[in-house]
Amino acid sequence: MNGSLTLEQALDILEKHAAEADAVPSWPASSWDALRRCGALGWSIPREYGGSGLEPLELLEGYQRLAGACLTTCFLLSQRDSACRRLRDSGHEELRRELLPALASGQRFATVGLAQLTTSRQHVRPVLTARLEEESVRLEGTMPWVTGAPQADHFLTGVVLDDGRQMLLVVPRTAAGLSVGSPMDLMALEGSLTAEVRCQDVRLERRYILAGPAERVLAAGGRGTGGLETSGLALGLARSAIAYLQKEAEKRPEWQARAAACAERWQVLQEQLRRLAREGADAAAASNLRAKANALVLRATQFALAAAKGSGFLRSHPAQRWARQALFFLVWSCPAPALDATLTCLALPE
Ligand SMILES: Cc1cc2nc3c(=O)[nH]c(=O)nc-3n(C[C@H](O)[C@H](O)[C@H](O)COP(=O)(O)OP(=O)(O)OC[C@H]3O[C@@H](n4cnc5c(N)ncnc54)[C@H](O)[C@@H]3O)c2cc1C
Repeated sequence: MNGSLTLEQALDILEKHAAEADAVPSWPASSWDALRRCGALGWSIPREYGGSGLEPLELLEGYQRLAGACLTTCFLLSQRDSACRRLRDSGHEELRRELLPALASGQRFATVGLAQLTTSRQHVRPVLTARLEEESVRLEGTMPWVTGAPQADHFLTGVVLDDGRQMLLVVPRTAAGLSVGSPMDLMALEGSLTAEVRCQDVRLERRYILAGPAERVLAAGGRGTGGLETSGLALGLARSAIAYLQKEAEKRPEWQARAAACAERWQVLQEQLRRLAREGADAAAASNLRAKANALVLRATQFALAAAKGSGFLRSHPAQRWARQALFFLVWSCPAPALDATLTCLALPE
């Protein structure tokens, strides 16, 4: 569909399709199209490449609003934007010119398969390896988690060389030897179409190397995992649950104290998020906020479910979806320090 939409109109479309996007393993086409029509596909892409280049704070607020309407669609966007940002920050002008304008207009879709360098399979041998040859690089293994994989034209991924050094690469979908598995059967966010991507003797030209070889190629760009975006999405989802609690509390006095406490906590964390986005966040500060945002989204969504009672347990009610989706923040891009701090926040009282 053509014609532009305001963000409010796009949010209405996302909210209308949120239950289906969560429950059905197919591409949320109407919601993605709404993102395109309201300009959200250009938010993270600089103006010179056809985007609108939002400032970090504006971008986080945009993600929050999208996450509150449909976490699945917002998650897809956040993974695509992670690929866009790594391209943008790579200094690889040829690939930037080739890919960023097409990503900004929605003609192409890219995603990331990076967890094998950070939070997945760290206790086993590298699952995606590469060998540098004179004019090319050869890939062998798997990207264990790739959101939106069946829809992707390009995969931004991380590989490990024989000597332990790492590289970031852009892998075109059409590369011979690359195959995308079936979408995994998930407890929530089914429309994210998360799948494994396999590389069997994939040969790439060297121009697809985005960064490295380096010892810790993700740290080199200054962007580790568990950044502010994940906390922003958690707070966005929490806000929907809290708004529901506040509405219930208007007619049910027994919910007033809890609704007010959640809203107050949300405000405190929102201020912290804004401050870190303005001033820059080191890994410890980002991890600390992530833990608190995780704890709030888990509690607020469970309070909303409890307030909705048995009716909230029905698939037709958003409370059960929020509660299931909140669990995602325990496992998505959650490095050990952030998980440890989350579990401390959730610890049982003595
Ligand atoms: C829905 C979904 C979408 C995602 N999308 C993306 C994406 O688009 N891009 C991306 O890069 N990542 C993505 N991720 C990956 C995510 O960020 C984490 O990396 C992932 O959830 C880590 O889980 P894992 O099972 O791979 O961890 P692993 O650490 O590999 O754990 C797997 C299993 O190994 C065992 N184990 C773990 N540690 C040890 C140990 N020290 N010793 C012995 N056994 C151990 C446990 O039994 C565990 O169940 C996604 C994850 C999910 C759930």
